[in-house]
Amino acid sequence: MTKQREIILLNIAGEDKPGVTATLTNILAEHNVNILDIGQAVIHEDLGLGILLEVPEKSESSPILKDLLFKAYEMGLNIKFTPIPEHKYEEWVNHQGKERFIVTLLSRKLTAKQLSKVTRLISEQGLNIDLISRLSGRIPLNNGKQNKSVVEFWVRGTPRDIESMKTAFIDISGETGVDIAFQEDNIYRRNRRLVCFDMDSTLIQAEVIDELARKAGVYEQVSAITEAAMRGEIDFNESFKQRVALLKGLDESVMKEVADSLPLTEGAERLFQTLKKYGYRTAILSGGFTYFGNYLKGKLGIDYIFANELEIKDGKLTGKHVGEIIDGQKKAELLKLIAFKEDIHLEQVIAVGDGSNDLPMLRLAGLGIAFHAKPKVKASAKHAISTIGLDAILYLLGFRDREINM
Ligand SMILES: [Mg+2]
Repeated sequence: MTKQREIILLNIAGEDKPGVTATLTNILAEHNVNILDIGQAVIHEDLGLGILLEVPEKSESSPILKDLLFKAYEMGLNIKFTPIPEHKYEEWVNHQGKERFIVTLLSRKLTAKQLSKVTRLISEQGLNIDLISRLSGRIPLNNGKQNKSVVEFWVRGTPRDIESMKTAFIDISGETGVDIAFQEDNIYRRNRRLVCFDMDSTLIQAEVIDELARKAGVYEQVSAITEAAMRGEIDFNESFKQRVALLKGLDESVMKEVADSLPLTEGAERLFQTLKKYGYRTAILSGGFTYFGNYLKGKLGIDYIFANELEIKDGKLTGKHVGEIIDGQKKAELLKLIAFKEDIHLEQVIAVGDGSNDLPMLRLAGLGIAFHAKPKVKASAKHAISTIGLDAILYLLGFRDREINM
């Protein structure tokens, strides 16, 4: 009879000290043990180390365990041995082909309620959590207004009902104030290369046309049309023409005044610096105006900008536009065009916007994010960010705070 292969799971816990892993693996090395799996996490100053080992064919496990036990005692560590039957190990190996997902939780301050609701849903869906990791920096107790807590879960399995799971995520998000992103972990998720942004109320905290209207003294009329268009109640092109017509006679110099006072969205500078540093291409696809898009392009170092051109004659707005109007459909076409030109797969494209005219491009992109959007837009998009700033996108890409310079 051939001897059963001995597989043992070691769990080591205790205070993290320099050299713990080195000392213990050195003992395993002396016994010529094979390592089938290894994982370690340090929370605060506490170590958790797991090693799945295979005892060499001609050896016995007892002297190895005795040496480990002795050393662990010396170092003040708890150690646990669990023999793993070979068939259990084979079962575990066969699980590795399963689908993988990344669940990202983004919040100003992470609460136990958010975590418990999300993890319960994950388990109810038959998914297994392989790894939990914090992406944001260590969280100070005195939370500033712009603080954020971001945690990433690596999850494996096939959801029992992916649609009901997504609805449940949206409910948890609304109930507990956490953004939850559920992404398939494939080669595209790790290789996104182009990010397309809406401008008004996405990159900047303003609707430029409202600001121009204020200066022209027609704010009430224009803002009523804007709101209706954003709610999807009137056709974008029609509302665009109506609003531009109301700006007739406005002095060109007002444009610069408005541009200089545009408030950037929280996290915008941090986001663009990082995207640029790591070679991502960026674009503004806007139903707003080129003048302001170009202003942001210069300020943030954006690669492409497509928006609407206001006609100016003798230093004044004529109330007309030049060329084709960029509406929702056009935004989607431009996204496709830039991706094609840059030789980037649509799955590698991220689109971000807040309005209903952003939905076509959000649907087309591999990762479409409704950003601080109205409920109707949020409900139609695959992903939504409503709690923290634009730099949330970096966490969805898997960046950690320590990899982001500012
Ligand atoms: Mg917008």
